Amino acid sequence: MWLKKFFQIIDKTPIGRFVDKKVELIESTDPDRIYVENIRSFFNLTTPLARVLCEMAVRDKLFKKKVGVECPNCGRIINSYNSNSEIPKKIKCDTCELLEKEDYLFNEINVNKITFYQLNNIGS
Ligand SMILES: [Zn+2]
Repeated sequence: MWLKKFFQIIDKTPIGRFVDKKVELIESTDPDRIYVENIRSFFNLTTPLARVLCEMAVRDKLFKKKVGVECPNCGRIINSYNSNSEIPKKIKCDTCELLEKEDYLFNEINVNKITFYQLNNIGS
């Protein structure tokens, strides 16, 4: 599994008392939805440092950077894009539309944007 391998490559610390916690973190991390927070807690870093690590992984083509847009109503990630400029001006939440909520069409400025990373499928 690539995510596990990635963590093994980056994590140079000897296997120690954090092993159980790390295994748990690896198993609860979706390789298509890696948040800075995942990296931060895995390596026990500060958030800015974890962000730098993620950006390094992007540069080394281990990660792909994604911008997810979150529905202000239901909190679901509606869609994800490769960059902010790809986000359309109007975003529709299918879930809220199906649930016949009053608001299901949102302006780009009103949605929450979340940066996350995806594992590149190198060698898989
Ligand atoms: Zn919604």
